[in-house]
Amino acid sequence: MSDGAKVVALSGGIGGAKLALGLDRLLPACALTVVANTGDDFNHLGLHVSPDIDTLLYTLAGLDDPTKGWGRRDETWTFMKAIAALGGESWFLLGDGDLATHVERTRRLGAGETLSMVTEAFRQRFGIASRILPMSDDAVRTRVRTDEGWLDFQHYFVRRRCEPAVEALEFTGAVSARMAPDVAAAIADPALAAIIICPSNPYLSVDPILAVPGMREALRARRVPALAVSPIIAGQAVKGPTAKMMAELGLEPSAATVARHYEGLIDGLMVDALDADVEVPAGMRVFAAATLMRSLDDRIYLARTVLAAVAELAGGRA
Ligand code: GDP
Repeated sequence: MSDGAKVVALSGGIGGAKLALGLDRLLPACALTVVANTGDDFNHLGLHVSPDIDTLLYTLAGLDDPTKGWGRRDETWTFMKAIAALGGESWFLLGDGDLATHVERTRRLGAGETLSMVTEAFRQRFGIASRILPMSDDAVRTRVRTDEGWLDFQHYFVRRRCEPAVEALEFTGAVSARMAPDVAAAIADPALAAIIICPSNPYLSVDPILAVPGMREALRARRVPALAVSPIIAGQAVKGPTAKMMAELGLEPSAATVARHYEGLIDGLMVDALDADVEVPAGMRVFAAATLMRSLDDRIYLARTVLAAVAELAGGRA
């Protein structure tokens, strides 16, 4: 990419943050803007919890817990033990260090800061070079219709461990939500060179971002290449309920289904080498590589491969 070129990446939590970390390590400081899903945000114990933003912050700051895959490393659990002993709500695990993030975020929001401002302040404190932005400063909340009725996202995801069968999803508040100002600016930036959809859950993590008015339209009207990385490898999710949900929604769990899901929004799909023969809608290019990210080197390799694919797509557009 040329000097000064900017990249916007749309991301959920764990899967998205893996690629975001690779891109962060590869690109110059401030070249990457990660737009985070906030559909998973919720109010818990009086605190504003933003799981995907926090996964991105902790991952890019090197504070994440690589074994658990969520939360902070070297975490302690005094608060959880104490609240459980009081008979309080203990189904959502909040480590002591993590708790500080939610307390300080809630305080700042209460003092009138936007979620964008709070996230930017935390990014600076953590010394992260890339920008992390909430998709919107307005509340958008993912709800899941299941065979047990409508469930708030964290109730489905954490409390019920994704066990209920998913029938439909809705993003409450999305129709009237405004794109966060810095997100709109990042997409309109003349220096923007590519839009990347990280290997996040297309339904739970990326669709809420696309539901923010103007987002889908911006992708459809893109002047730069857009590429998605499939979170499905050989019909399976690396982690989490993506493949299970696809089957419950009557869709075949495959990279081809991911391709159809993003039809019209992307120019290229990066699939795993195991899926190199994937069928995609007309006009979409397929790139195949090792997309399973176990190590930091894997993340950087995939980021480099994604940027090379985007450069190839840009050449095709010129
Ligand atoms: P969440 O918000 O924490 O659930 O995380 P995301 O939505 O960002 O990521 C979940 C998705 O990441 C799942 O569909 C996984 O299959 C996918 N994923 C996780 N690790 C990898 C990986 O190493 N490679 C690929 N291609 N996908 C991955």
